[in-house]
Amino acid sequence: MTALADVARSTPSGEGERGNRPTLAVDLGAVGANVRHFARITPGEVMAVVKADAFGHGAAGVARTALAHGASRLGVTSLDEALALRFRHIDAPVLSWLNPVDANWGAAVREGIEVAVPSAEHLAALAPGARVHLHLDCGTGRDGAEPAAWPGLCAAAARRPDVSVVGVMGHLSCADAPSERGDASGREIFGWGVRVARAAGLDPVHQHLAATAATLNDPLSHHTMSRIGAGLFGIDPSGPGRLTPTLTLTAPLLGVRTVSAGTGVGYGHTWVAPRTTTLGLVGVGYADGLPRSASNRAQVLVRGRRRPLVGRISMDMSVIDLGTEGAQMGDVVTVFGPGTAGEPTVAEWASWAGTIEHEVMTGLGPRLARRMS
Ligand SMILES: *Cc1c(COP(=O)(O)O)cnc(C)c1O
Repeated sequence: MTALADVARSTPSGEGERGNRPTLAVDLGAVGANVRHFARITPGEVMAVVKADAFGHGAAGVARTALAHGASRLGVTSLDEALALRFRHIDAPVLSWLNPVDANWGAAVREGIEVAVPSAEHLAALAPGARVHLHLDCGTGRDGAEPAAWPGLCAAAARRPDVSVVGVMGHLSCADAPSERGDASGREIFGWGVRVARAAGLDPVHQHLAATAATLNDPLSHHTMSRIGAGLFGIDPSGPGRLTPTLTLTAPLLGVRTVSAGTGVGYGHTWVAPRTTTLGLVGVGYADGLPRSASNRAQVLVRGRRRPLVGRISMDMSVIDLGTEGAQMGDVVTVFGPGTAGEPTVAEWASWAGTIEHEVMTGLGPRLARRMS
C-alpha cells in the first residue's frame, strides 16, 4: 500500500471523509458474494487469483475475504506477489505461475509457495523441495510449455525426486466465446497433457484449466479446481448479470464556474461550450486510471443525474458539464459504481475507452484513497 493510501486510512473515517478526496470504495462483501457464487457452481476447489494487487482492489484484503468465503488457494503471477502475501501473514497455499528462469526458487521453497513450471530450463533451476504445477500451453501461443515439449518436460520432472509435481495447469484463450473451436481444442490438449503426465509416473492432484469465463460457461473445463480472477471483482466476460460489482469511485467538486458559449475546455480545446453553462472540476485524471481515450464520451453522476465529462481528461483532473442545474463546490461526484443509483459502471467506462473492465480496474492509481468495507 502506498504512503498516500496510508495517510488516507489513518484519518478518522466517516461519511465526511469520504466526501473530501477522491476515494475508491472496495466492497469486500461483494467479493465474498462472488466467491460464494463460484464455490457453488464448481465441484472442485476455487483458487482466488489476486494478481496485480487483486485487480487494483488490494491483494491482502481480497485474499483474506476470498479464503473466508470458500476459496481454498491463492494464485498470482510473480513470486514477488506471492512473497508479499506471506509478508502480510497470509499462509494459505499460493501458486505463482510467471517467473524468469533465475527467479528466487529458494525463497519459494522456504515460504511454501508453489510454482508453475513451463520449461525444462525452469525445472532444472528449481531448488530442492519445490512443489510444482507443470504448465501446458493449451492454445494461448503465449505461456506454458508447447505440446511438443510436454512429454520431455514430464519425463524430466519424473527424474527429479527432490521436486514434487502436485499439479498440471493450462489456460484457455477463447473461453469468453464458448462456442469457439479454440476452447474445445484447449480442453483436448489439457486432457492429453494430464494423461501424458500420469504415464510418466507423475501424480498431479490439482488439474486446473478454467478461469472466470470457462468456469461460468463450460462445465467440461472444471477439473479439480478453477482459477478465478475477474469474477471475484464482478466481471463476467460473457455478459452482465450473475456477479456483484465491487468498486465505487467518488470525488468532490473542487471548483464550479459558469462559462459563456464559445469557451474552450482543457488541453486542445476538444470541447467548446455550445451555450452558457456551468462546469465542475474533479481531481481525478488519467494518473488515477480514468482512461484518456474516454474523453468527451464518459459520464459521471452528480446530484442523482448523469452528466458528461467534457474536454480532454488530463493527468490530474477532469471537467464536467453541469448544465444549468445547481451544483456546488464539495458536492460528491460518483465516477463509477455498481450502477444501482444510476451511476456509470466500470463496464461503461471500459466501453467508452474501447477496452475491457480488467484494464480499467488494474489502471486505478495509487493516489486514490482506498476504503475497504
Ligand atoms: C489471470 C489469470 C487467471 C484468472 O483469469 P480471469 O479470467 O481473470 O478469472 C487464471 N489463470 C491464469 C494463468 C491467469 O493468468
